[in-house]
Amino acid sequence: MIQITMPLNFLGSVYREIRQSLVDMGEMFNLLDQPAEISDKPGAKALEVRKGEVELRNVAFGYEAERPILKGVSVHVPAGQNIALVGPSGSGKSTIGRLLFRFYDVQDGAVLIDGQDVRDVTQTSLHASIGVVPQDTVLFNDTIRYNIAYGRDGASQAEIEEAARSAQIHDFIQSLPEGYDTMVGERGLKLSGGEKQRVGIARTLLKNPPILLLDEATSALDTDTEASIQDALARAGEGRTVITIAHRLSTIADADRIVVLQDGHVVEEGTHEALLAAKGRYHHLWTRQQAEEDAA
Ligand code: ATP
Repeated sequence: MIQITMPLNFLGSVYREIRQSLVDMGEMFNLLDQPAEISDKPGAKALEVRKGEVELRNVAFGYEAERPILKGVSVHVPAGQNIALVGPSGSGKSTIGRLLFRFYDVQDGAVLIDGQDVRDVTQTSLHASIGVVPQDTVLFNDTIRYNIAYGRDGASQAEIEEAARSAQIHDFIQSLPEGYDTMVGERGLKLSGGEKQRVGIARTLLKNPPILLLDEATSALDTDTEASIQDALARAGEGRTVITIAHRLSTIADADRIVVLQDGHVVEEGTHEALLAAKGRYHHLWTRQQAEEDAA
């Protein structure tokens, strides 16, 4: 019997690992358009996150040699700060997320986490340190509990509930007749976009990463949904370094710092108020977006 269960246990853990990496890849779908051929350096060490400081130091990058996307971008995110990347569509915001994960290598400069170049550490340790809240959370045809617990194998019910509470989705789950055992996904209960996103936030919180990358939804949600997601994200970000890829500006006014990208460069940075007062690029983007939202 032992002879049979041992290999089954082993297969089970391999299966879980593959499954986990597939979820991570699935969640990265919006950020990762194309698999890159990146491998660990021989003898690469595990990333040691002590504080969670992130730095892009003079980064140059393009997907194709003849079309540079980032032309010497420096962004410093002190540990525990919450910064937002904004800029016109195509300015390279999601690209910065991909470089942080080392899905591509920079062509010049460096991406550093707590002073360690992402090219010098193992990808497994790098990916374990960064949690992503994607625009669209992939739900599996299984229970809500299972869907949240994807964030970490072996999580207890109490830990799952704590994550769900922080993600502001616990009360909703409790209100369902079958609670955490409710089946969701294609063949189960259809969750709204906002509910799905909060399940995604709970999943990421369970992983408990020191660094969070938020890929904000491109489309406007209704005001109540947006407010509950903003609450959930604010809770999720407590005590962590947070980088938000903001496709719209209305949600990031509270960021510690907003970094404005354009034509491959950082053209402005500061708080929402300071940038509005400066009446520069951000002010222009903000006014235009307000007008669009009013018209809609
Ligand atoms: P948005 O706000 O519209 O999502 P963004 O600022 O996040 O835009 P990126 O997704 O970083 O922009 O893309 C920057 C540029 O790089 C775009 O011109 C895009 O077409 C190009 N690009 C993105 N992914 C690839 C890829 N895999 N291969 C080639 N070019 C790419």
